[in-house]
Amino acid sequence: AGHLNQIHTHNKALNAFLEVYDEEAIEKAALIDAKIKAGTAGKLAGLVVGIKDLLCYEGHHSYAGSKILDSFKSTFSATAVQRLIDEDAIIIGRQNCDEFGMGSTNENSAFGPVVNFVNQAHVAGGSSGGSAVAVQAGMCQVSLGTDTGGSIRMPAAFCGVIGLKPTYGLVSRWGLIAYASSFDTIGPIANYVSDARLVLDTIKGQDGQDSTLSSTIPAAKSDKKRIAYIKEVVEHPSLQPEIKEAFVLQVDKLKKLGYVVEGVDFSYIDQLLPTYYVLTTAESSSNLSRFDGVKFGHRTSSPLDLMQLYKRTRQEGFGAEVQRRIMLGTFVLSADYYDAYYTKAQKVRRLIQDRTLAILAEYDFIISPTTSSTAYRLGEKTLDPIQMYLGDLFTVQANVAGIPGLSIPMGTDSAGLPMGFQLMTSPFQEAKMLDVGEILS
Ligand code: GLN
Repeated sequence: AGHLNQIHTHNKALNAFLEVYDEEAIEKAALIDAKIKAGTAGKLAGLVVGIKDLLCYEGHHSYAGSKILDSFKSTFSATAVQRLIDEDAIIIGRQNCDEFGMGSTNENSAFGPVVNFVNQAHVAGGSSGGSAVAVQAGMCQVSLGTDTGGSIRMPAAFCGVIGLKPTYGLVSRWGLIAYASSFDTIGPIANYVSDARLVLDTIKGQDGQDSTLSSTIPAAKSDKKRIAYIKEVVEHPSLQPEIKEAFVLQVDKLKKLGYVVEGVDFSYIDQLLPTYYVLTTAESSSNLSRFDGVKFGHRTSSPLDLMQLYKRTRQEGFGAEVQRRIMLGTFVLSADYYDAYYTKAQKVRRLIQDRTLAILAEYDFIISPTTSSTAYRLGEKTLDPIQMYLGDLFTVQANVAGIPGLSIPMGTDSAGLPMGFQLMTSPFQEAKMLDVGEILS
């Protein structure tokens, strides 16, 4: 009830939830109470969870923050959502996000921006902005977000909460409305590392529905007590000085814990964003071709022929950023440019992966600030997409390489805005990363 109260008091201003399942949640809570008394409750009994609008939930709307999915209801639940329900979590509502997860500030939602609870003139971060603000404002205990290039970690950093992006292939993407399939991951946003861990343990693993899931999970690696930071990141000109200072303090803490912390070179820093944006726009242009006005969601009125049905439906349904990305993606996949852009980006992705894993063969973690600045003012970046894309510089490496990443709070800057600290580690070594996250946070 406390969470519903917070929602009713603050959601109008914050715009974190697009829909609240009041009655359902209250009914469910009563059922779970009875189960707790009977000693039959699941391990997440009563955990109040919000879900990003990109995740399907049986019998409920999922709009992916877009008008094109107008009135769409899913006939099944995403594996991650279903597993939470099976352990008696309470799904409290559907959370605002950038349209199809495309954005870094949650200003690309068809349903209006989400604002930061700390300072409402500032953005929440994106694309899981609603999910982060909901946790920040006590509207739920945990949110399920998605992270394709930073969309869990970045809003978590901007809102001063915890965001966990799992290894690609650990959590099933079944029931996640696809953005870029070889990058998309589902993970928790929470106030406590322990909650994030519990949720990850519940949602991970085979479900027979996602062929990219790993069938064997490597054993835990032993601790080398060595941590790397990438020199090109920590010395990046875009890094806000106060964030750098806070980062140095974290490094000191880690040294006190007995870690050797060293700078390493990463010569692909300038290739990270181009690689990410060439490949994700390509994949999204293909994924989004299913929204044609025939199968589900919005359909234009009285088209003259099939071509007009497709064109007008997509023009009316997709927002400007989504249309931009479909055009970019279609361009890099077109016959004349395929090799120059798409094939090349695939090759660079492999180089980035190899170098990242080589660093992680020698070190337990790669650390960095999660973002180079604190939350932008609303509207500050919306006119210049390139500036917006630059904000993802520190987070996309984990997605390009497929490794896990965790953002934990790192205090606030002089304006009172939260800063985030990021840990990345080898594939499937989440437990170790969460252990250190727990000590630091
Ligand atoms: N900001 C990045 C993008 O727009 C990341 C989004 C995400 O992780 N879903 O692609």
